[in-house]
Amino acid sequence: MSDLSMLINGLRVTAERNATFERRNPLDGTVATRAPAASPGDAVMAVEAAAEAFRSWSETGPGQRRALLLKAADALEAKTPQFVEAVPAETGATGMWAGFNVMLAAGMIREAAALTTQVAGEVIPSDVPGSLAMAVRQPAGVVLGIAPWNAPVILGVRAIATPLACGNTVILKGSENCPRTHALIVEAFQDAGFPAGVVNYLTNAPADAGAVVEAMVAHPAVRRVNFTGSTRVGKLIAMTCAKYLKPVLLELGGKAPLVVLDDADLDDAVSAAAFGCFANSGQICMSTERIVVDAKVADAFVRQFADKAKSLPLGDPRKPEPVVLGSVIGMATVEHCNALVDDALAKGAKLVCGGKADSTLMPATLLDHVTPAMRIYREETFGPVKCIVRVNGVEEAIACANDNEYGLSAAVFGRDIARAFNVARRIDSGICHVNAPTVHDEAQMPFGGVKGSGIGRFGGKAGIAEFTDLRWITIQTQPRHYPF
Ligand code: NAD
Repeated sequence: MSDLSMLINGLRVTAERNATFERRNPLDGTVATRAPAASPGDAVMAVEAAAEAFRSWSETGPGQRRALLLKAADALEAKTPQFVEAVPAETGATGMWAGFNVMLAAGMIREAAALTTQVAGEVIPSDVPGSLAMAVRQPAGVVLGIAPWNAPVILGVRAIATPLACGNTVILKGSENCPRTHALIVEAFQDAGFPAGVVNYLTNAPADAGAVVEAMVAHPAVRRVNFTGSTRVGKLIAMTCAKYLKPVLLELGGKAPLVVLDDADLDDAVSAAAFGCFANSGQICMSTERIVVDAKVADAFVRQFADKAKSLPLGDPRKPEPVVLGSVIGMATVEHCNALVDDALAKGAKLVCGGKADSTLMPATLLDHVTPAMRIYREETFGPVKCIVRVNGVEEAIACANDNEYGLSAAVFGRDIARAFNVARRIDSGICHVNAPTVHDEAQMPFGGVKGSGIGRFGGKAGIAEFTDLRWITIQTQPRHYPF
């Protein structure tokens, strides 16, 4: 168990009245972390520190920001052993997942470092003689980043790296489920030497999330909000942001389809499906949640996929033996998935492997012959319980892939690349991969969803557009004509 501090204005602080909350390990209930439970007053202090620091940070040159970001990437990697201990303790995920998170997150910070010289504008021809007209990107101000626990290092870093590269100051609001993991990210930025107030860190008890977030959104210095989490909470945050007219980037839930066409290479499709379905026990926003398979190849695909799914090792991630499936985040996931299994079986689905769980160690579970009447056809499981829907031909496959409120990631498998590409083009999602898994993230790519999966894009130049203000500035270089 470890006691944490928050970081406000470069100082490690406790919450008002020393209030704390506990995060317990999902498998055995032992206290993993005790963290400060910030009040709305603490949150306002963090905003004010960030607002003060913005005055000088926004004036720094790209070289200075780049150098600090590169140091932060190294500092993050140097903390790999701490992450590999903290992530399983707080979330139940595997050490392999923690290590992968650190690797990708360090790459995201390095990509953000490279973006510092890409915050570019343009000169636009003016019809006014002698008017030099520019579109100029400027840092927006204080950015509030709210990150979840499921890919904790990647998503915590993503919430702040590009905003910092653009010259904003940030507050990371850590997840109640992994306050220590998120604190390690902020420590890395501190180790790198970011000036006081540029990176701030806040933790809150679950019941206080709404009030703490609203206190920050309401503050005039907060000029951007980014949120990664569920669609349910994303809508609440969007409403709070609407109330104060704050631009918000929302990266929300998903129900990614993996479409297996009748000419797919089944070995490839099975490998991608297993990775996409069961990496981090299905707790990834891009997780393959629906396998939409052409009836012509469905029997062969399901047989091969079941063999692969049954072979995936499951166990306590804190033990030395490596496992693919560790513990899920909590019993709420177990109960949710069990209810979806019961509902599907009662309506005629066939259990291929796995089944209901009685602890957070959930086996890889596949349900075949799933129909639109079953809850699992539509609802995000966010666990290792996945559905297979059989369809006849390309048109039915596309209709099924699009028959969902979400639209984050998708995949299409087929040997006729032109046909598979045309299917990919017609799927309503922010991301779609041909002959590759639904789970795929790279720092420089535009990452985000459509429909219920959110608004806006992280990644590369798309991220610069989110976290800067585009201004029109002119210089009149010769006498100007006025009508009176
Ligand atoms: P969640 O929405 O339950 O919680 C996330 C955050 O919301 C926490 O920090 C919490 O403090 C805050 N919160 C809760 N209630 C609030 C309120 N009333 N007002 C303001 N803030 C509040 O999400 P989760 O269960 O932690 O994460 C899982 C979800 O996140 C899944 O649906 C998953 O698909 C999604 N996700 C999306 C992406 C993406 O990039 N699109 C990435 C990872 C996870």
